[in-house]
Amino acid sequence: MLVTDIRVTPLALPLKRPYVWSQGVETRFHVNLVELIGEDGAIGVGETTTAPDAAAQAMVLRKLGRHFIGRPVFEARQIMAEAYRANFLAFGGNMPRYANQLMSGLDMAALDLQGQATGRPVWDLLGGAVRANVGYFYFLQGETVEELAADARAAVAAGNPVIYLKVGIEPERDIAATRAVRAAIGDTRLRLDANEAWDPGLALRMLTRLAEFDIEYIEQPTPSTAIEALGQVARQSPIAIGADQSVFTLNEVYRAVSGGHAHMIAIGPREIGGVQPMIKAAAIAEAAGLKICIHSSMTTGISTVAEHHAARAIPNLDDGNQIMWQLLEEDVLDRPGVAPVKGRLALEGKPGLGTVLDRDVIGRAAERFEAEQA
Ligand SMILES: [Mg+2]
Repeated sequence: MLVTDIRVTPLALPLKRPYVWSQGVETRFHVNLVELIGEDGAIGVGETTTAPDAAAQAMVLRKLGRHFIGRPVFEARQIMAEAYRANFLAFGGNMPRYANQLMSGLDMAALDLQGQATGRPVWDLLGGAVRANVGYFYFLQGETVEELAADARAAVAAGNPVIYLKVGIEPERDIAATRAVRAAIGDTRLRLDANEAWDPGLALRMLTRLAEFDIEYIEQPTPSTAIEALGQVARQSPIAIGADQSVFTLNEVYRAVSGGHAHMIAIGPREIGGVQPMIKAAAIAEAAGLKICIHSSMTTGISTVAEHHAARAIPNLDDGNQIMWQLLEEDVLDRPGVAPVKGRLALEGKPGLGTVLDRDVIGRAAERFEAEQA
């Protein structure tokens, strides 16, 4: 199956309600939709993050994607290695974090095309499924402590076994929100994510205070640029520590686990370079006796499906993985449905990723992005 064309489309997708986290308050997500076109007309889809600018990233993605044109899609690994060498190393630029975030969309699209060409789900191309379904946490939303507690009550009533709350907003607000959520959910499992907000000293003070709320795990309390800071906290914290923004490359995963800097590795295809590199990252964590927790930030249903395929094939997978498309006003998928029931999702094994895009939603999102640029 030869690849004949690549399309990259920046999308602006509004959120149902303001999304509050340690880095600010967001009202919409941007993604770049990546489509690799096969010689038989099949379309492989993927998506990427867009920081710092979706239009600029689309230009780079098209440049990288052109390496696929006229080549067999089953040479995807070699093509992406060549694209990295020709567009980064050949200019003296070794930028694995940046490249991973772009290559992820090409990896998803290539695997989708490979699966369609062979009639196999992507998890079969990764060695086959080792589980029949995947567990997800419930992602609490709200601008106030009262809204978060109300969402938490509803989440537990709907049967969600794992609840996830953003902290790192402001210390007293974080304590109040965690207390209110714990009161609302009884003994249901509770996780936190501080998204790099604390230095090690503040992190240890906060984690000591938060320990009374029976927190099973907190992601990335300290800045991502210093894995050693995370390790300082992990060695003294009363709560288990996850590395997330610290581990966007395979070498960073290796350093985190070999240094004993984290108890869990939270990682997603859009950061590590795609679905296939997820399997490599999981193997590094597995060698250290750690689990992988799927990280999914500002993603649509396309990434959700890609993450699900990886999750079905990873042996050392956690049961409270991240899912984020549900924050969007409307998702880009027509099918499959990707809403977990009681925290569990089991997609059918359709060829490739098995997605059908909603072209009306995508058209509106592309127009919205262009209007924002005017
Ligand atoms: Mg996180």
